Amino acid sequence: MKHDELILRLCEGNRRYIESADAALREETALNGQRPHTIVIACSDSRVIPEQIFDASLGELFVIRVAGNVLEEHQLGSVEYAAAHLGCELVIVLGHTRCGAVAAALGGHADGFIKSITDEIAAAIGEERDPLRACEKNVLFAVDRIRAEFAAHPEIEQVSVTGAVYDVLEGSVRFLD
Ligand SMILES: [Zn+2]
Repeated sequence: MKHDELILRLCEGNRRYIESADAALREETALNGQRPHTIVIACSDSRVIPEQIFDASLGELFVIRVAGNVLEEHQLGSVEYAAAHLGCELVIVLGHTRCGAVAAALGGHADGFIKSITDEIAAAIGEERDPLRACEKNVLFAVDRIRAEFAAHPEIEQVSVTGAVYDVLEGSVRFLD
């Protein structure tokens, strides 16, 4: 598809969205501010859409998406902001089955900026070679990091941090603890 056809397709989608049932909620949250209850750190994979997976409305989830659901300072800053300033009470690190970033880390031959992601995943999974177990280890690594980084943060220490894996075929979420 050509670029202008893609933009047209996106604009048509936006027009449908503007006219959708979300209009009242859009107005409410725009005028009164957002009060999301949960932070979700998920992969950028187009099959992993937290709002759809959890059937959540506008304003409910504070979503951070990055390939491989890895954590660096920008993501930690986003967690800190949402927990300390927006009042989120739960953080979910959401990995998923058939993740290309985890597969690339297992394959061990990424380059360019992608390597910064696969290096992070490789550090998390160690010697693990099973893709699902590797995905779980990558999630738990991020969970541990968030807990450690904010252990002494007065506004974040009472926030619960948990890990989960989304099955892109079944549509189900399995919590890891
Ligand atoms: Zn992924």
